[in-house]
Amino acid sequence: MITRSPALLQRHDEDSKTRPVDGSASSDEAEPLAPPPAWQAQLASAIRDPAELCRRLGLSEAWRPGAEAGHALFEVRVPEAFLARMRPGDPTDPLLRQVLPLGEEALAAPGYVADPLEEAAHTPARGLIHKYAGRVLLITSPACAVNCRYCFRRHFPYGDNSPSRAQWEQTLDHLRTDPTLIEAILSGGDPLAASDRQLAWLVERLEAIPHLRRLRLHTRLPVVIPDRVDDALLDWLGATRLQKVIVVHINHANEIDDAVIKACARLKAAGATLLNQSVLLRGINDSVDALAALSERLFEAGVLPYYLHQLDPVAGAAHFDVPDFDARELVAGLREVLPGFLVPKLVREIPGEGSKTPL
Ligand SMILES: *Cc1c(COP(=O)(O)O)cnc(C)c1O
Ligand code: SF4
Repeated sequence: MITRSPALLQRHDEDSKTRPVDGSASSDEAEPLAPPPAWQAQLASAIRDPAELCRRLGLSEAWRPGAEAGHALFEVRVPEAFLARMRPGDPTDPLLRQVLPLGEEALAAPGYVADPLEEAAHTPARGLIHKYAGRVLLITSPACAVNCRYCFRRHFPYGDNSPSRAQWEQTLDHLRTDPTLIEAILSGGDPLAASDRQLAWLVERLEAIPHLRRLRLHTRLPVVIPDRVDDALLDWLGATRLQKVIVVHINHANEIDDAVIKACARLKAAGATLLNQSVLLRGINDSVDALAALSERLFEAGVLPYYLHQLDPVAGAAHFDVPDFDARELVAGLREVLPGFLVPKLVREIPGEGSKTPL
């Protein structure tokens, strides 16, 4: 289970759960009486109760014990805007399956472990993972807007990797003193779960590092709460001198509604290159039809497919696994029906390798 602790880019999230809607108790926003942004209210009102999730989707009582058992291992979190894209009464809905806890999560499977990527060995400073040449990953916010059941960070010790502002300065020193770094990747959790004030603070420091050229964000927020892409975000994003790449995370075409298309268009208009990464998930997107429809729909939203990840062997997610042989067949099938630029790279992350490994 994700532990929460004081973090630079987390406080507003905790605040938003308890703060009155008029924002009067907020100490973190520039205008003391300004209401919190709409997306923060949506984040605060996300569904966190497995029984409520089952009820809202009209699932039979049979699903409830499994949902409760999985929730005890990794808490449920589903924003309303994402729920609205699911088909009520359909336990096989591909969006629901990404967020509905199942009893299977309690099953042990050989090779499925808490830290499958051995990231603990690559954290030279708090909140920083430096595994690949030229780019570092910054754990910008421990929170996510949605808790995906297959997430390789479902057991991540965020409490140990959530630096305070003072500690952030030390983490930034690692970037300042390594001229081989040209790209900073804001990751998490979800970096856009942090407030725009905090993100602007961080980006200001990053762009002051002369050898950094690119800013990348790995985020699911524009997908699960499209209202996250608001004027305050576009202000700092559009203003930075750094080249911007935003890698969203979409696994199924049904995730892309008009609001997502609009959010992507605004990010693009602010100068960002948009890419998508998906995880290959049994029962959710493991067919040529589903993956081809996803690529086509992504392109309609102005997003290019980047990676199709093989599942990381994280404890509790074995039931999502698609064997490598089947995965290769699926991508071969995609090549027959799609232009090359809509075929994602099938990769696996292998601990100790200097890049993602193509399959
Ligand atoms: C995936 C990943 C990256 C980014 O890899 P790209 O191949 O450039 O997309 C960077 N750092 C870490 C630790 C990663 O896991
Ligand atoms: S949004 Fe990403 S980091 Fe957050 S739970 Fe989902 S897969 Fe994990």
